[in-house]
Amino acid sequence: LIRFTNVTKRFGDNTVLDDLCFSVRPGKHVTLIGPSGSGKTTILRLLMTLARPDSGTIDVNGGRLFPAGEKERREVRKKIGMVFQQFNLFPNMTVLRNITEAPVRVLGLSKDEAEERARELLDLVGLADRVDARPSQLSGGQQQRVAIARALAMRPQVLLLDEVTSALDPELVAGVLDVLRDIARSTDITMLCVTHEMNFARDISDDVLMFDAGKVIESGSPEKIFSEPEHERTREFLGAVL
Ligand code: ATP
Repeated sequence: LIRFTNVTKRFGDNTVLDDLCFSVRPGKHVTLIGPSGSGKTTILRLLMTLARPDSGTIDVNGGRLFPAGEKERREVRKKIGMVFQQFNLFPNMTVLRNITEAPVRVLGLSKDEAEERARELLDLVGLADRVDARPSQLSGGQQQRVAIARALAMRPQVLLLDEVTSALDPELVAGVLDVLRDIARSTDITMLCVTHEMNFARDISDDVLMFDAGKVIESGSPEKIFSEPEHERTREFLGAVL
């Protein structure tokens, strides 16, 4: 379970998250939508402990992320993986090594164990034949699929996806979304996605949370949010992006 309770986050005078409360049940796939600047990425950054809230509590799978001591926070943080808009692969390492590096160094897996798992994951993302390639030899879509495999190699219970297709050429988007759809269907991982791809949100999500000005103003199944939005701001937003 991911639970935000009365979370406020400010940058100077700008209140980005305003007494925010929401929760995501284990194994659910939840998409955050809303206008630019409404605080969606900030939520993912808090979960990655790349930022800290000014007040409120954040709990993940029975552990406390904020406020918590450094040791507890690190334990909770280990359960969470993230894929970014920019793939951030290590350019000087092969595809295989990009995936095995953290499991060997952080989880203490043997090289053989890590490689076996990496090959399974590369198979899952459709890149089994590119183990020895360098990131620069791959298309953006392939690089993003490696980044997804790399995140999964750490066996996270929660996967955060931040606009993972927005840096891609349009013809490469579908392949990445297909892989994420497969993962959503075939694993029990909890997924929290920020996306402007409304078709993807509709396809993959159990629930959609509509944000505006640092609060959830409406939530529900994709059918409800996309077909019968209740809130005027949701209607305006969907009118502009659909
Ligand atoms: P987008 O869809 O454009 O990515 P978003 O909903 O993800 O938007 P956030 O990136 O969470 O929005 O940003 C929310 C607000 O917080 C914005 O007004 C942004 O300028 C501000 N902000 C985010 N990070 C910082 C920072 N490190 N320092 C100052 N202000 C920041």
